[in-house]
Amino acid sequence: MGKKELAALFSSNPDRYYKVSLFDKMGFTRKKCNRCEKFFWTLDTARDFCPDHENYGFIGKPPTNKRLDYVNAWKETEKFFRANDHKIVRRYPVVCRWREDLYFTIASIVDFQRVIGNQVVFELPANPLVVPQMCLRFNDIENVGLSGRHYTGFCMIGQTCNADAPGGYWKDKCIDLDFGMLTKGLGIKAEDITFVEDVWMGAGAFGYSLEYFVRGLELGNAVFTEFEGNENDYRVMPNKIIDMGAGLERFSWITMGTPTSYDCCFGPVVGKLVDMTGTDTDQEVLTKYFESVSLKLDNKTGGSSSSIRDLKLLIAKEMNFSEEQLSAFVAPFEAIYTISDHIRTLVFAISDGALPSNVGGGYNLRVILRRALSILERLGWKNIIRVEDIAELHIDYLRQMYPELEDHRQDVKTILQLEASRYSSSRERMNSVAMSLKSSKKAKELTVDDLIRLYESDGITPDFLMEQGIVQNVPSTFYTKLAELHTSQVSSQSSKPIPGLEDLPPTKLLYYQDESIHHFHAKVLKVVEGKYIVLDQTAFYPRGGGQEPDTGEIEGVKVVEVTKQADVVVHKIEGGGGRIPAEEQTVHGTVNGRRRDLITKHHTATHVLNSASRNALGSWVWQNSAFKEETYGRLDITHHSTLTREEVKKIERMANWVIRENHPVIIKTYDRGDAEQQFSFRIYQGGIVPTSNVRIVNINGWDIEACGGTHVRSTGEIGLVKIVKSERIQDGVVRLEFVAGEAAVSYMQQLDSQLASIAQALGSSREKVVESFDKAVQDAEATKKKLRAMLRVVSVPIAKSISEQAKKLDSGIHLYTTYDEELDDDYHIAIGEKAIELDKHLVYLALVSKGQGIRVIVFAGEAACKKVKASAIAKQVSGKLGGSGGGDNRFGQGGGKSKDRIREALLLAEEVAR
Ligand SMILES: [Zn+2]
Ligand SMILES: [Zn+2]
Repeated sequence: MGKKELAALFSSNPDRYYKVSLFDKMGFTRKKCNRCEKFFWTLDTARDFCPDHENYGFIGKPPTNKRLDYVNAWKETEKFFRANDHKIVRRYPVVCRWREDLYFTIASIVDFQRVIGNQVVFELPANPLVVPQMCLRFNDIENVGLSGRHYTGFCMIGQTCNADAPGGYWKDKCIDLDFGMLTKGLGIKAEDITFVEDVWMGAGAFGYSLEYFVRGLELGNAVFTEFEGNENDYRVMPNKIIDMGAGLERFSWITMGTPTSYDCCFGPVVGKLVDMTGTDTDQEVLTKYFESVSLKLDNKTGGSSSSIRDLKLLIAKEMNFSEEQLSAFVAPFEAIYTISDHIRTLVFAISDGALPSNVGGGYNLRVILRRALSILERLGWKNIIRVEDIAELHIDYLRQMYPELEDHRQDVKTILQLEASRYSSSRERMNSVAMSLKSSKKAKELTVDDLIRLYESDGITPDFLMEQGIVQNVPSTFYTKLAELHTSQVSSQSSKPIPGLEDLPPTKLLYYQDESIHHFHAKVLKVVEGKYIVLDQTAFYPRGGGQEPDTGEIEGVKVVEVTKQADVVVHKIEGGGGRIPAEEQTVHGTVNGRRRDLITKHHTATHVLNSASRNALGSWVWQNSAFKEETYGRLDITHHSTLTREEVKKIERMANWVIRENHPVIIKTYDRGDAEQQFSFRIYQGGIVPTSNVRIVNINGWDIEACGGTHVRSTGEIGLVKIVKSERIQDGVVRLEFVAGEAAVSYMQQLDSQLASIAQALGSSREKVVESFDKAVQDAEATKKKLRAMLRVVSVPIAKSISEQAKKLDSGIHLYTTYDEELDDDYHIAIGEKAIELDKHLVYLALVSKGQGIRVIVFAGEAACKKVKASAIAKQVSGKLGGSGGGDNRFGQGGGKSKDRIREALLLAEEVAR
């Protein structure tokens, strides 16, 4: 049974599923659409089709006396639901840190969904509640700015409750409220409202729904999630969920009746951009055009932009314009709308800690930013409007509704500026690719896949190609396809499970009770394959959260690996021989305390460093991943650029300051919902916690994370942390390698002794080592200079003797070959050069040993190179040596790694010369 069958099933029993008390009270009647056969409820007895086939009858003539811009539409909504006993919840981040399968929050209900095992559970922080949830979606990018109502970022008003918990309600009250919101809140007349029957299917749960429309515009959808399971095997949920989602953009639009929803939803942004760019406005033409688009895009074309083009032709005709006239008029508006949307989305995403990049969720952010930048460029606006200024306009307006944006104003500007300058510096390369495309004539045949490849490899957007006149339009499926390639995260981290552990009880974790327990007694519950041991309790920390496992002994047998399978800790032993413990036996376990202690210090140091990095660099810094070992630790953070030496020092100084302050490390278990509310989603630095309780590690306000690892009791125990290396390992991710505690001391000592031996070798002291080193470098340079001078003097007699030693071949060539392990290429270049000057028939071939490989140097005299080219010899000889070479007639060079083929290579040269 699919969605259609389910809809038919629900609609076959409307009294059970769809009829709500409001319909009786107000006299709504149920009708079947005479065009698509959907069922709908209306007060208008004459109406015989559903709102899907209806023109937007509110543009230019809104069906209410209230005029509510975006923020005021929210204020009205907030007021209404607050008065009706709903808790108003602050929006959740647009970066979805609590679901592994999503990068971004795509709907309001996602806020309250948590995945435990394979099941989605609903967790509501209040009941009932309303949330103004910003949602990001990248599957409709090509319609954004063109259709009048598509966005990459929009606010979904989420009205959510658990029907069976205190405060909850079900469909009668839900629709009463929504109807009240529309009529009293927005001032819309009851006759203008139509409810359409529909179904909604989510992961592991589904239900029926009523979509509500006003004058052809869908404003919201009230989903009654009643069943869990799938459509073939389901039961009523113990906690049924009301999930009503309405578009705030639409609430505002219906009251304003502007040509597009963009005109009323970006505050003063559109108007300012129109002024700054000097765009011609004619409200009448604009209204007429977008009214036509809204109707026709929805119903006749399915919304692809090649058909938007057809659509434009059609509309142009209707309006008595030529296609060019209409385009010239509409294009600047489409550009302004698109840019406004894209930058607003970036404001939220960057504020919530995301970075544009080439990987993961950052991918779509860079796509839309580059799209906005190329539109600015294409319309010649790049010197008039800067993207960061648009961001500021958005924040100025939205801070009344989302005050947290103000805190990130500077971060947003920093990232936008950086990305814009990266874009303009990459334009040079993009230009040259565009040039070669133009001349290759392939441009006309560019497929969507070609365009995707161009974006992925050179960052070239189709908008840029349009600007260059290489393509006529952006293919409708380009952004959709691109987004599909980068939508969901893939997490595949499955090691082969050990069989036979399924029925064992969870292992009691002594290291959580008291980390100082290193000796313990336990009962053996299971032995698998003579090497995997499961105990009833253990002090061994299993591999997890980037922390390496403990080692030690069980009954004197070495424990080499500890892992966790579901709730069961498995100890892998090695070299037990006949002493493998038996099931039911009581054993004594010993954890290698020194190793544990060092790992614990490195682990706690990652917390300290992570927050130090964020404080030193910016709020976009998150832990990307981490690894903690006995001898060192590694922390990968999200950051846009390679770190400067100064930045590394700053992080190091801050971290060591926190260590010296000796902050207590407080570990407490919280209900997950409480932890999220109290500490925000910052707690998920190490990823999602798939349980209903979370263990919060709080370094006294400096750093608060959900973490299951082992930690010191106060930061002073770490002693010292030293960053030994920082490196940009991928776009948007920087790796810090560090040492802590005793490992840091050893590292310092090692550096110190290296310095001492350098000083000694230089015959200097540590204090003067830099000075002495500089002098040594100068001396070496001087020596080289002297050698070169000497070489010039001796090269003539040596060259003469080479000419004499050379084999006189029948071909007329004088061949000299040598393999040299002592003298370097400088020598052979000087001698070869001189030798062919003296003997025009000479071919000079030197193979020079260099580290792991061989360098090939070939000179051919003026007469010789008429018969054989130096480049050809270099190429063939290098090939023989497993490498490659080239050059010109007179001089060739190359190299290879196969030192065992030197003889063969020299013979080959002779063959070639003959
Ligand atoms: Zn219909
Ligand atoms: Zn931790």
